[in-house]
Amino acid sequence: MKLRLWSETSWRGTWAKAKAGAKVRTHAFVVLLVFLATLAAFVYYANSVRNSVHKDVDSAFQQQLRVLSTGTTSRLQLYEGILRGGAGLFFVNKTLTQANWTSYFRPYDIQSQFPDVEGIAFDRYLTTNEVSAFLQSIHEQGQPSFTITPPGERAVYVPTTYMAKYSSPNDKASGYDGYTDPVRKAAMLEAATSGNPTMSGQTRLRSAPNTPTFIMYLPVYADSSSLDTPTERQAATYGFVSVAVNIHDFVTRLLKQNPNKNFGLKWYDAQSPRNNQLVYKSRNFDELAKESDSVIQTIPFTTYQHNWKVTAVVGPGVVPTAERERPFTTLAWGVLASTALASVIWVLISSREFLLNRQKQLEVQTAKDDLLSLASHQLRTPATVVKQYVGMLLQGYGGKLTRGQTSMLKHAYDSNERQLQIINQLLYVARLDAGRIILHKEVIDIGNLLKQVCDEQRIEASQRKQKLVCEIPEHELAAEVDPQYFHMVLENLVNNAVKYTPDKGTITVRARPSQDEMLVTVTDTGIGIDEDRQEMIFDKFTRLDNELAANTSGSGIGLYLTNQIVSLHGGYIEVKSRPGHGSSFTVHLPINESGEGIEEISS
Ligand code: ADP
Repeated sequence: MKLRLWSETSWRGTWAKAKAGAKVRTHAFVVLLVFLATLAAFVYYANSVRNSVHKDVDSAFQQQLRVLSTGTTSRLQLYEGILRGGAGLFFVNKTLTQANWTSYFRPYDIQSQFPDVEGIAFDRYLTTNEVSAFLQSIHEQGQPSFTITPPGERAVYVPTTYMAKYSSPNDKASGYDGYTDPVRKAAMLEAATSGNPTMSGQTRLRSAPNTPTFIMYLPVYADSSSLDTPTERQAATYGFVSVAVNIHDFVTRLLKQNPNKNFGLKWYDAQSPRNNQLVYKSRNFDELAKESDSVIQTIPFTTYQHNWKVTAVVGPGVVPTAERERPFTTLAWGVLASTALASVIWVLISSREFLLNRQKQLEVQTAKDDLLSLASHQLRTPATVVKQYVGMLLQGYGGKLTRGQTSMLKHAYDSNERQLQIINQLLYVARLDAGRIILHKEVIDIGNLLKQVCDEQRIEASQRKQKLVCEIPEHELAAEVDPQYFHMVLENLVNNAVKYTPDKGTITVRARPSQDEMLVTVTDTGIGIDEDRQEMIFDKFTRLDNELAANTSGSGIGLYLTNQIVSLHGGYIEVKSRPGHGSSFTVHLPINESGEGIEEISS
């Protein structure tokens, strides 16, 4: 079993990762809190909006009920007026005729003013022994066929005697004894004993057997009778003036006065023998009652001594759709706003974190650059002194040297030379990163510069038995560059070609103008570079593993510097390479006779 000991670095890395994870969790928690708090506020608000919508529906319901109740009362008061008018006639003359009755009510224009009124009648109240005299007087008045229906012996008869508005005087209602109908009888008794107008429950007229109707009665008393007690009043009853009203037309008319398709009702006769008999139902009732937010309420009420019950419904449509949907839109906005706010906070926290990290990175980088610059400056002076002294020794200033001593000093000299090269490169990197490289551009013949570089590299190439071919045209290749830095560019490229090409290989250097560019290409038959690593060779301190790298001195900053300098000249480097077949580095340098495209960079 292998035991793995954690190094300090890995422990620090793990700790840093854990710390970063905890930070992200804290941020996520804060963002979640903001999201939930905002959402909760919106939910609270949406709920209060919902309550206010409910209140609106409820107050619309109450308003509709008020309208209905006022309408009912004022309409019934009109009928009461008609009753009192009819009863007034009998104070003038107790012996009226059907003709008097019809004439009296003609100005009322019942047909058009009271379309819900089936008829206005006078029903004579008779005890058994009054019947024959009554019939005789009616027959004499011009109604010879008048009979009391239904036939039969009864203690009290209340036949309909005079009628207005009914289809004709020979109508089926004529002579009908309403006292035989328990519903009417109850109302008549109540009216007779109380002396007040009284309303019956639902009944059906002989003339309109399919129409639910209520009848209002007002008693007419015999003259000079005492009317102090119910018994006295009943005994003095001469008859009743009655108004028969079609319930359906009555309610429909009431609802039409304040039409609202979101209001419906059911009207019950609370005193009917069949308890709570339905006498009217609006068509929209069931549909409205089904809706989830509708308000339904049943209210009992009494009019003219009769008990009724109304179940009313108000649908949510009574409140405008936009108003009703406000709770949902508020909630939807809430979700959106909470998400947006949470996202903004997340972005703010993240970007703050990013900026802090970036600032830290910059501080670290600056510290590194300063260290690099300091170290390379401090190294350069002693290394140069070593070079001078070793050079003096090799030139014999220290006396004659043996062959062995000379060889050893040459090795020391070469190593010191490489050391100085690396120190110089480090210095350039430090300057570059600090933005302190200033190009002093001038128009020169690039061909001459290339020849010079080729000559310098030829010794090393020949030591490796390599062929270094410089294909430079005879004519001048003018370009505006900083000669010192561009020399460094060409030197790095040719030197790399030499370094990374095995013995006996070929290095070819070409230069040619192409449109508005100057192209300098260094091609070798060397080890080549994998495609996926071709970009990283331009990174600082990057060396690829290959069989030649181990035996080749290098710092991994040559191409970084080369690339940066070419960029400062406004150009770029193109790499083409195939592992095992060689590489080709082409510098694209902008040239433009007008000077455009050649960037004057002084950093
Ligand atoms: P170095 O000092 O290592 O040469 P460079 O920055 O000049 O640093 O090059 C970076 C890496 O790119 C080298 O280590 C080498 O692996 C690769 N490289 C550069 N030029 C060539 C080339 N002509 N052929 C193959 N590999 C190359």
